[in-house]
Amino acid sequence: MEEAKELVEKGFLTSSCCPAFVKYIEKHQKDMLEHKSHNMSPMAYLGKKIKEREPNAKVVFIGPCVAKKSEILRPEVRPYVDYVLTFEELQALYDSRDIILSELEEVEFGGASGFGRVFARSGGLTEAVRRALDEQEVVGFDLKPIMCDGIEECRAALLKARHGSLGGNFIEGMACVGGCINGAGCITHSPRSRGEVDKYGRSAGDLGIKDAIDQWEKK
Ligand code: SF4
Repeated sequence: MEEAKELVEKGFLTSSCCPAFVKYIEKHQKDMLEHKSHNMSPMAYLGKKIKEREPNAKVVFIGPCVAKKSEILRPEVRPYVDYVLTFEELQALYDSRDIILSELEEVEFGGASGFGRVFARSGGLTEAVRRALDEQEVVGFDLKPIMCDGIEECRAALLKARHGSLGGNFIEGMACVGGCINGAGCITHSPRSRGEVDKYGRSAGDLGIKDAIDQWEKK
């Protein structure tokens, strides 16, 4: 929602959710830095929300991404996220305690909109931004996304943007091919992952982004 607002204000934006993409711009495409979204990543933003509600909470981000380990060292993120674990590390923790997930009772892990749920795969961020523009009833702005699947596509898009030949106004930058579902800390790197994430997204039904935020605020 916030990134969609920023996009409309600035007219051209590069996304901020992938720390490897952000670091790539900072190191190798410095003259594009002014276009980088100033919104924090979803990890940092949710960590901030949790700390506002529970100041003594320890926030642990568990995900597929090793770059998140360096993201939490950034001064603007450090106050909100205490630790980052990868899925591989979590699995090692389970193994060390002889915990077998398939033997445990399943519980519903809900609350997010379908747009929040599919963020993990390439294109999910753009779908969320498009929906956020709709939900905010933005008129007169034409979203022209460039979805970059892997760091090579990110590099090419940034170069085109620098030379004025991109033909888009929003760069979704995902350093891993396929998006976070292929992050280095994933346990599986299967072609089925995208379908599984989409299925999980559909299981949210027609819950919108604003609805999901409202539900969280009321909890
Ligand atoms: S695309 Fe890869 S590097 Fe970027 S946030 Fe996802 S897992 Fe991390």
